[in-house]
Amino acid sequence: AKALGGAQIQRYSEELNQALQRKLTLENQLRHAIERGELYLNYQPKTDLHSGGVAGMEVLVRWKHPEHGSISPAEFIPIAEDSGLVVPIGEWILRTAVAQRRAWSDAGVPDAPVAVNLSGKQFLGTDVVALVGNVLRESGLPPRLLELELTESISMDDPVRTADLMRQLRELGTTLSIDDFGTGYSSLSYLKRLPVDKLKVDRSFVLDVHQSAESLAMVKAIIAMAHTLRLDVIAEGVETEEQMVALRSAGCDQIQGDYFSKPLDADACAEYLRKHGA
Ligand code: C2E
Ligand code: CA
Ligand code: CA
Ligand code: CA
Repeated sequence: AKALGGAQIQRYSEELNQALQRKLTLENQLRHAIERGELYLNYQPKTDLHSGGVAGMEVLVRWKHPEHGSISPAEFIPIAEDSGLVVPIGEWILRTAVAQRRAWSDAGVPDAPVAVNLSGKQFLGTDVVALVGNVLRESGLPPRLLELELTESISMDDPVRTADLMRQLRELGTTLSIDDFGTGYSSLSYLKRLPVDKLKVDRSFVLDVHQSAESLAMVKAIIAMAHTLRLDVIAEGVETEEQMVALRSAGCDQIQGDYFSKPLDADACAEYLRKHGA
């Protein structure tokens, strides 16, 4: 490797310092974001390719920062994970999404489950079963209207405990999806032991599914395996008609992405549900 000059080292350490500063500042501000009402939720519709109706909507958190404007969850969720703030934030997201779905049902908005992302810390580090059970009971929401998304990597950290917790969540009546599937090298026998309902194929496979024989073969293999295990398959990040058509002919059950709809605020989502049914 090329030796670094003194000036270059200084520049690197300044950049590192700045990134660290931003992280620390955001972490401190995130502590107060809930009480200050800076967090809000978006909902992205999932379309059932068999019926053409809405299969549900994924809940995506947003942070409207007073100075920096909208900050992506891709930046602040990892910060929240590291600091443990993801626990209160995750609880707020779950309560808010469930309350929203309940309010929609009360207003006659068509049924379709809200899908909430659970972070690793929330799943393995807190009593997530008690939390979900309490939130459902207090809201009176039918459990079938709550779906939970868990990334493939979480489920591999502690497979035995993960399977046990998943079983308990499913006994509550919720639906479980494995998120970002294909990025974590799960084996078929491992997957067979997990009590899940759905696999969510990661966007990295969707990107070139219409023009790469390899990606298409991967997606077809995932779908064949999932269907053998009686699991539904959803693809995320679908932006074009070509991608949608390739996925549909590969036998994919559901699609989520900007092609059908970008993430919507609560009012726009209710309107979408009224228009496209469930
Ligand atoms: P994810 O769970 O894989 O969520 C899908 C991401 O893809 C979302 O980004 C969504 O807005 C984006 N997306 C959807 N359709 C398209 C498309 O057609 N094209 C492109 N380019 N992107 C699309 P977002 O909202 O920025 O969220 C990023 C990540 O942050 C999520 O990835 C998830 O890991 C995390 N996250 C978001 N909301 C929550 C939450 O409420 N709780 C937790 N624990 N994590 C969350
Ligand atoms: Ca997700
Ligand atoms: Ca995902
Ligand atoms: Ca993803």
